[in-house]
Amino acid sequence: MDRTLADDLARLPDLLDATRRAAADALGTLDARPVVPPGRPPAGTSHAPEPLPEHGAGADSALAAFRERWEPRLSASAGPRYLGFVTGGATPAALAGDWLTAAHDQNSNSSLDGAGQDLERETVGWLRDLLHLGPQHTGTFVSGATMSNTTGLAIAREWLGERLGVSPADDGAGALGPVRVLSGAPHSSIAKALSVLGLGRNSLVPVPTLPGREAVDPAALDRALADTPGPAVVVTNAGTVNTADFDDLRAVAALKERHDFWLHTDAAFGAFAALSPDHAHLVDGLDAADSLCVDLHKWLNVPYDSAVQFTRRRDLQARVFQNAAAYLGPLGDHPDLVHLTPENSHRLRALAAWFTLRAYGRQGHREIVERDIACARALGEQLSEDPALRLLAPVRLNVVCFTLAEAPTPARLSALREAAAADVFVTPTRYGGIPALRAAFANWRTTPADVRRAAQALCGAAKEIA
Ligand SMILES: *Cc1c(COP(=O)(O)O)cnc(C)c1O
Repeated sequence: MDRTLADDLARLPDLLDATRRAAADALGTLDARPVVPPGRPPAGTSHAPEPLPEHGAGADSALAAFRERWEPRLSASAGPRYLGFVTGGATPAALAGDWLTAAHDQNSNSSLDGAGQDLERETVGWLRDLLHLGPQHTGTFVSGATMSNTTGLAIAREWLGERLGVSPADDGAGALGPVRVLSGAPHSSIAKALSVLGLGRNSLVPVPTLPGREAVDPAALDRALADTPGPAVVVTNAGTVNTADFDDLRAVAALKERHDFWLHTDAAFGAFAALSPDHAHLVDGLDAADSLCVDLHKWLNVPYDSAVQFTRRRDLQARVFQNAAAYLGPLGDHPDLVHLTPENSHRLRALAAWFTLRAYGRQGHREIVERDIACARALGEQLSEDPALRLLAPVRLNVVCFTLAEAPTPARLSALREAAAADVFVTPTRYGGIPALRAAFANWRTTPADVRRAAQALCGAAKEIA
């Protein structure tokens, strides 16, 4: 064994302790550090790549180099005022689960080795319960909502084949002929998934949304389906990233009485509305989806990367993803995870979700969701009191979409974002043709005090750039 490596093995408990202290430092200073550090390297350091060491100096030295060169440049995205994209943090229990995932380093893709698949199955059952899904839905862990959407739409593709008497898994997507995927305001990852799946970005047919909304107009969808020859795919959106708007999931599902379509629902963060009795009506009908995307690294507050793909047709899922090999054995009723997603090797990703659900339960996670919703509402109120800013949509859930009252150009909004970036991070968008900013709440740490600090920073920045 390499000598440095052997030394590290002998000192493993000390090294883990040093790493724990570094992590505790990073988390302990979240409030004091800029939410997003300025782009320039700190004095005396450089961003230029260093050469690969011929001989390493061990984990201590790697830790010191990381802390000096890289850590100061990392954002405080684990903290309470990182409101860009839709970004969760990691609850204490989720972080513990994630560390142990790496420590045990399981490849939990096969039932031949260990209890990983059973642990994942238990976790999926808890999530189903948390989100009010029925037992017809099986679930599989994947790396994020993009992978969940891709996997769900791959199952949809095989369903189209079943309807048309062909198998895209065997004969390719070309066997289907032209495919139509109808949606009101789909996330960008839907088009990406269609590109990956050989259905093509142009198979996406935009359906009009309700006036002033991002929710699909069910009557327009009804007409679009009537104009579609043959079976189709409908993607409903439960929580859009701009304004957290929701399609009427029940109304869309009811269209199945008249039209033949696969129903895929992208509920990456919106699914968690189910935890709040005041907002659960937004996801009424979630269970009707044939395939369903739920992100966990957003509102469940587990570390990146983690999401679940739910479906009612695991048979079709296994037809798409089966990885036949002599040593992997037959599929059976409970196919090994190696047969259910694009990946073969599969880390014990479920453990972080298992930990946080076991540690805080339904009520603990309900409190996080409800506090984030209250914080979003409070930020919306505080920003709308400033005449320099205006909201572009009501705060329906956890997203505040706003812009400058005067001359909301991308350049001015970017200046505003940067002027506020030490205290709050928000991301740019365009809503109804207007350049805008959005603040999304999904972190378990965020409190009303953070909202006041974020509002002060944004209002102060608006003044500064005026
Ligand atoms: C975040 C998000 C995605 C993509 O999720 P990743 O986890 O980044 O892959 C897809 N759909 C919606 C609605 C999202 O909010």
